[in-house]
Amino acid sequence: MDSTIKALERRCPRLGGPVGFDYCLTAENDQHPCFKIIDCWWEQFDVYHYLEASLPVKQFHALLQAGPPKPKASSLVELIEAARQRTRTE
Ligand code: SF4
Repeated sequence: MDSTIKALERRCPRLGGPVGFDYCLTAENDQHPCFKIIDCWWEQFDVYHYLEASLPVKQFHALLQAGPPKPKASSLVELIEAARQRTRTE
């Protein structure tokens, strides 16, 4: 990775503190770029073309279509239960 890019930092809206670009590249399960990486970095450098050139084609296209991580199963159960309770009281 280019040392200039590697040295870049910004405030992470997900974590609430500073992170380096290298963190964002492997933020999802310590393997994949964060789904917000283009949104977060486009103002500092041409992150789109950087990723296009450095990621495997399949991974780059997956990143373009990625959304937020799915909620954990426990969160889903809680959401379903909350929806059930709402429909009972209506
Ligand atoms: S790309 Fe993801 S991990 Fe990096 S700053 Fe943005 S939200 Fe945080």
